[in-house]
Amino acid sequence: SLLGARTTTRKAFSINYPILQQVAYQSGGPAKVKNYIDGEFVDSKTTKWIELRNPATQEVISLVPESTDEELVAATDSAEIAAKEWSKSTVIQRQRVMMDLQYLIRQHQDRIAENIVEEQGKTFVDAKGDVFRGLQVVEQACALTTMLMGNHLTVAKDMETYNYREPLGVVAGICPFNFPAMIPLWMFPLAIATGNSIVMKPSEKDPGALMMLAQLAAEAGVPKGVLNIIHGSVDCVNYICDEPRIKAISFVGSDVAGKHIYTRGNANGKRVQANLGAKNHAVILPDANKQATLNAVAGAAFGAAGQRCMALSTLVLVGEAKEWLPDLVERAQQLKVGYGMDPETDVGPVISVQSKDRINRLVQSGVEEGADLLLDGRGVVVKGYEKGNFVGPTIISNVKPDMECYREEIFGPVLVCLTADTMDEAIELINKNPYGNGTAIFTNSGASARKFEHEIDVGQVGINVPIPVPVPSFSFTGSRGSILGDMNFYGKSGLDFYTKPKTVTSLWKGTDASHSRASVSMPTIR
Ligand code: NAD
Repeated sequence: SLLGARTTTRKAFSINYPILQQVAYQSGGPAKVKNYIDGEFVDSKTTKWIELRNPATQEVISLVPESTDEELVAATDSAEIAAKEWSKSTVIQRQRVMMDLQYLIRQHQDRIAENIVEEQGKTFVDAKGDVFRGLQVVEQACALTTMLMGNHLTVAKDMETYNYREPLGVVAGICPFNFPAMIPLWMFPLAIATGNSIVMKPSEKDPGALMMLAQLAAEAGVPKGVLNIIHGSVDCVNYICDEPRIKAISFVGSDVAGKHIYTRGNANGKRVQANLGAKNHAVILPDANKQATLNAVAGAAFGAAGQRCMALSTLVLVGEAKEWLPDLVERAQQLKVGYGMDPETDVGPVISVQSKDRINRLVQSGVEEGADLLLDGRGVVVKGYEKGNFVGPTIISNVKPDMECYREEIFGPVLVCLTADTMDEAIELINKNPYGNGTAIFTNSGASARKFEHEIDVGQVGINVPIPVPVPSFSFTGSRGSILGDMNFYGKSGLDFYTKPKTVTSLWKGTDASHSRASVSMPTIR
């Protein structure tokens, strides 16, 4: 029967949780994270290992290698060979692999999310969101056949011009710690779907999710060498920037690393897309729906312990909205700080002791520069997790633009609050800030929202929406200091980044149509 035929052609996937566990994390002692080269999870021969600690406990859960020079070269060798074959595969074949990959990710999202909680600290529900927002990019890749279509025009008698996009060859992805599934999934699925091979370097702080995704990719039919994973930090990054066989680099992370990678990659003739730091402002107009707005702002400021590049870390209260601060403090106080697997937890730990110290220092700088500390989350201790890197929701008001806590990206659960008499003043403040990643306005006035949307110089604008990360039919469009390069992640722009256009003009005439002599003038079509 038709149904029977369908069942027999459906691929039986063999992945299960224990297999995923072996790749990145084993209970009962630190596992050594492997390289993934030429379709094999292989032990690194390095002598340099980076300790990966559970941020809620300080337990060393795995050791991440600084992959050796030989291993970095081996990954590129494998990617180079694989790219030659993979670029000849059809769009339909690659689309089908993406369909299987999205199915497998959905099946295993809870296990990946658990690993994210252990390595990165965010809550389980939030970690599932991390996987899900990446999964959506794989779903975009499932529409590859229509998205990769080129153009065609008959330009003269018997003459046609058409264009299509070809893969670049070997590309690379360098990832930050804060979205260990979503951001690798911004990169490798589209790179692979467009016919490239890719060398990925996850954050040395939480490579587990990508290791699991690699295993799912292999199971979905990504051939050996098309996806490779190497590990490390600066040396590994510099190798990627300098290796001539790597044609393009996708980077997401901090300003320091991003500027370095953009400059060094460009100097070596590579295409680089780099998403950098942020300082996202929420503007509250007094006509906003108070309850919904305060809940949205508290969620977006303190969710993921403020470690989202689209977190609302700065609040601008316009006019009478400044009276709402006590209510905001009350809401923030209700948020529970704790271990990410505890279903009651709203705010997990921050990534490291160093990060916690940096956050605490920036809060203190606000106090010393004359701001008011309305809610102090420093010194929060979680029962059973006393060693964790916890910082509770923190609110600083009366902040001025010249204070360090306003100028620096804090990247923790800290909301700095400023006031403005008018929306125009708020717009001016935001447009003067060097970053332009995201912003949100809360209002019931369509006219104010429209004016804000058009006058604000920020890449992603939310109107009564706190974290306006676009779905992948659009692209992630941070601007100004939050981005280097002119091609965005995912969406149409993401496909363009991993491909180059080729334009063909062809003439097919009958054999009798030969010219009597050579024409030396520039061909023109009239
Ligand atoms: P990070 O820059 O420290 O690390 C990112 C990657 O760069 C890692 O793989 C790391 O090994 C490497 N790296 C770090 N320092 C380096 C150096 N000096 N030279 C070369 N490579 C280096 O960033 P992070 O702390 O992992 O992530 C947080 C940052 O990422 C925040 O600034 C956040 O705003 C930003 N971010 C931006 C976006 C966005 O889309 N704009 C999204 C997520 C995160």
